Amino acid sequence: KLRVAMRMIVLMLLFVLIPNTAGALDGIAVDPLAERTILSDIITIYDVDGRTLTLGGGDGDKVVQVTASPGNMSPGWFAFALTNVTDEQLIRWLVVENTGSADSGIINPVLIGPRLVSVQSDKGKLQPVLESGRLDIFEIEVDAGQTQSFVVETVGAVPRFIVLWDPRAYGAARHALSFFHGLIIGIVGLLAIFLTSLYVVRHRLMYPAAALIGWAGVVVLATDFGLWQRGFGAGPATSSVVRAIAEVIFVGAVAFLFTTFVEFKARYRYVADGTPVIFGVSCVLVLIAVLWPSVAVSIARLLSVVVAVCGIAAIGYLITMRSARALALVPSWIAFTSFTLLSMLVYSGVLSGAIAHPMYIAALGLVAMVISFTAMQYAFDADVAPDENARELALKAVAFSVSDTILWDWKVKEETITVGRELEGALGVARNSLNGPQQNWLDKVHHLDRDRFVQLANSAVVSDDGLINTEFRLHTSAVGQRWYRLRARSVAREGVDAIRFVGSLEDVTTFKNSRERLLRDAVHDSLTGLPNRALFVDRLTRAVVCMNSQGGNNPSVLVIDVDRFKNVSQGFGHGMGDSMLTVIAQRMSEVMSEADTLARIEADKFAAIVVSDASYNNIEEISRDLRHSLKQPFYVGGHEVFLTGSIGISTFDSQRHDKACDLLREAELAMVHAKTSGGDKTEKFHLDMHPSQFDRLTIESDFKRALERSELELLYQPIVSLNEERIAGFEVLMRWQHPEKGEISPDKFIEIAEEAGLIVELGYYALDAAAQQLSLWRKTFGDVPDLFVSVNVSSRQIFRQDLIRDARLISTSASIPAGAIKLAITESLVMENPELAAYVLERLREMGVGLLLDDFGAGYSALSHLQQFPFDTIKVDKSLVTGGRDNAPAIVKSIVNMAHDLGMKVVAEGVDSPSDVAYLMGIGCDFGQGYHFSPPLHVNTATKYLAEWR
Ligand code: C2E
Ligand code: CA
Repeated sequence: KLRVAMRMIVLMLLFVLIPNTAGALDGIAVDPLAERTILSDIITIYDVDGRTLTLGGGDGDKVVQVTASPGNMSPGWFAFALTNVTDEQLIRWLVVENTGSADSGIINPVLIGPRLVSVQSDKGKLQPVLESGRLDIFEIEVDAGQTQSFVVETVGAVPRFIVLWDPRAYGAARHALSFFHGLIIGIVGLLAIFLTSLYVVRHRLMYPAAALIGWAGVVVLATDFGLWQRGFGAGPATSSVVRAIAEVIFVGAVAFLFTTFVEFKARYRYVADGTPVIFGVSCVLVLIAVLWPSVAVSIARLLSVVVAVCGIAAIGYLITMRSARALALVPSWIAFTSFTLLSMLVYSGVLSGAIAHPMYIAALGLVAMVISFTAMQYAFDADVAPDENARELALKAVAFSVSDTILWDWKVKEETITVGRELEGALGVARNSLNGPQQNWLDKVHHLDRDRFVQLANSAVVSDDGLINTEFRLHTSAVGQRWYRLRARSVAREGVDAIRFVGSLEDVTTFKNSRERLLRDAVHDSLTGLPNRALFVDRLTRAVVCMNSQGGNNPSVLVIDVDRFKNVSQGFGHGMGDSMLTVIAQRMSEVMSEADTLARIEADKFAAIVVSDASYNNIEEISRDLRHSLKQPFYVGGHEVFLTGSIGISTFDSQRHDKACDLLREAELAMVHAKTSGGDKTEKFHLDMHPSQFDRLTIESDFKRALERSELELLYQPIVSLNEERIAGFEVLMRWQHPEKGEISPDKFIEIAEEAGLIVELGYYALDAAAQQLSLWRKTFGDVPDLFVSVNVSSRQIFRQDLIRDARLISTSASIPAGAIKLAITESLVMENPELAAYVLERLREMGVGLLLDDFGAGYSALSHLQQFPFDTIKVDKSLVTGGRDNAPAIVKSIVNMAHDLGMKVVAEGVDSPSDVAYLMGIGCDFGQGYHFSPPLHVNTATKYLAEWR
């Protein structure tokens, strides 16, 4: 310790004695204890043109000439002298950081490679210390007590930060830095890897851009730390090229990230986002970097300033435009701008010293980190779009793409239709065969749906709401078709007309088919589970066909009607009646054999087909058993009830019968005979029972021609608004003008039409004619408010798909307001299959068809049904209105009240006298119909009436 203290004193003395002037080569006393001595301030720099340095030449001095090393085109020179004040040899390393960053210069920088080329002392040239990756450390020795001068040749200008290191201390300092370097390069490297793999998961350009920044950063750091040189043994030239490329890519990637991140393109569709320019410039710079790394780096360093400044301006602008993305980029940009500023100071050497370079690499690491975190935040945040609206749209697009809906786009003026590719696949048609001129599309629409489709689409063009909502069939490549539902909305208008519709197509084939099946399967009576009339007739037809082709037993039909059942069920109530029917059905089923069919063909009317053993004895036996089963007591509400039945039988006879329903009809007739002769009887059909049999058959064949010859006529019976004294609507009633027999009442021919399978055609005829007439009236008397026409629907009609189809066809073809055509349906009809009826009625109502509950109050009616089904009007049966039964007025009154509570209108049928009118007005009934006002009228008379009474 004493020795050290002594040395310090000597040293201080020396400093006093030998003033440290700027004069050349005055020896500088080296503190033997200092780990490092900064030489920057004490060296003498020679500013020489050319490659030779001449020293000395003062008074008496000898002249020393030094020539630059070969290849060093712009050498720099400096000199210094060191004095060893100790009594031991002094060994120091002369070190300049050659990182490519610190003090490398902005314009034409000195990149990787030795900054110090040679060091010459009085004793001759010194050898560099060959520490790997660093070629410009020179070991300096000064003997004890001596002063030694050194002349140093540098590449480019003389570095600003020159240090004399104690070799051991230098090693330790390097070691400490290595840890720091490793940390930074590790973090940046990991981020780069992570961002690269993110792109695999989420294909957004911002991830490769951010990853590129990371990778370029890693390379810059690797050259700065000499890893490149050490790890791959890359020479200075190669390292410089690598470094130059990395710097170019770093700046390019930052610019690229900026444009992709703020989503310029998404925001401003017509503004180029500059990506191609950035890409092009980067490529050119990379090429330059390969040939002239320094030139490329000069440009890159200047460009980074440009990018930072432009970025600040753009972010500022976008934030005022409320871009969330721009706001998110602020931290990254602060980091990048700060880094650019700092690196300029470091490159230019303004910021030098031991701390300058670590600061630079730390800042670089920080930029990479902040940018990565910003980008990553978007990877894990579902928020992928710049604002809420776009986000919702994006979500909707996703939802649309996973649903089975297909895009449909109609440009009205161009007359083109574009549909999603999926449709071509679904229909199996050629590519692009659907797209283009709208005719392509229409060709694919089923011919039965085409006119309706065109009409609907055209009316949507001029409609206010601009909506298309329809179902239609499209032809597939194979034989067949699929049902589609189209829902579209106008997205552009020109004046009042829509010029473009966009919507979705949905395949509803399965739904349609299952509905059809439901309708087709509706052949069972929902109460008893027995086949209904339709299925019964079908089975009977099969039995007849079967017998004709395969021989076997002649089928017999038994019709069983429960005597006075209506009285019984009225006495005990509707529910009891139903459960008695169920029991009856069960008991009778037990009598029948497996091969036979038992059906419920009407409320309390059953029918059986017997094929098992058609011998008369057997049939007699069966009918006896059936009647016997009815006679067993029923226990109803604590009472024992006994029933009887009337049975009619008819056996197939190929001479007389050509159709199955003839057989049923005969059996029914026989049953009526049994019933009228007192009931509780079995009667077999014989020809006497059928006085008009011949008549009926001719009527049936005549009727088939009646439709073709248009012998059917529609009469219109006015329905009058009771408190306004005007015509509110008409009921359409059909008449058959038979050429020979004169007018035939519907009561007679409707049933025939049903059995002859002509009822669907007939129904359509009435519905269509009524619709035409109504729209004609609406045109002529434009201002008749809420004029309606009611059309009767027969029992066979309602449970067929045709009704819905017909109603739709009519409601879309004639322009008729909702509810103006009312289908009149009886309650018993609805109760045959309430579930199916509810479905059918609901569909009809959706289509804007009005629904009228007919004959309410006749038979057993239940007010509770009123709410179950979507009827808008109910018609009180004439039996309750005409003349009035004992308690009828009270019943009608309660029906009216109930209907009004449910928001329905009430029509009273069979209004015969002024007193009926007065009474009905008194209880607030809405409409009246009957001979008091008018009988059914021919269309001309009806029109005249309407003109008068509207
Ligand atoms: P409905 O639905 O009960 O029709 C009312 C019947 O009562 C009509 O007989 C009508 O002429 C008659 N009527 C009108 N006002 C009075 C009155 O003040 N007093 C009395 N006692 N009767 C009056 P119409 O025209 O003979 O029709 C009989 C039935 O035929 C109708 O009964 C209806 O169920 C059926 N029908 C008529 N046209 C069609 C049709 O186009 N299709 C179907 N499926 N059935 C029809
Ligand atoms: Ca009616």
